[in-house]
Amino acid sequence: MINKCPKCEKVIIQFRINTVVGAMPFKNKWNCVSICCPYCHTVLSVQIDPVAIKADTVNELAQRLGGLPT
Ligand SMILES: [Zn+2]
Repeated sequence: MINKCPKCEKVIIQFRINTVVGAMPFKNKWNCVSICCPYCHTVLSVQIDPVAIKADTVNELAQRLGGLPT
């Protein structure tokens, strides 16, 4: 069946999203989101937070453009 939790086997029609931090040893940390089963809270997937990466990209671009000579 489609959208079935692999642990509790309930059908999921709405996932739970939590903010988490992804860290590589001795490197940067990233704002991430975990996608979880709303019933048993099993983590089904983790990805970089698309809202945070968009904001970081816009801020970095604004800083670089602001640093260019006019
Ligand atoms: Zn579950």
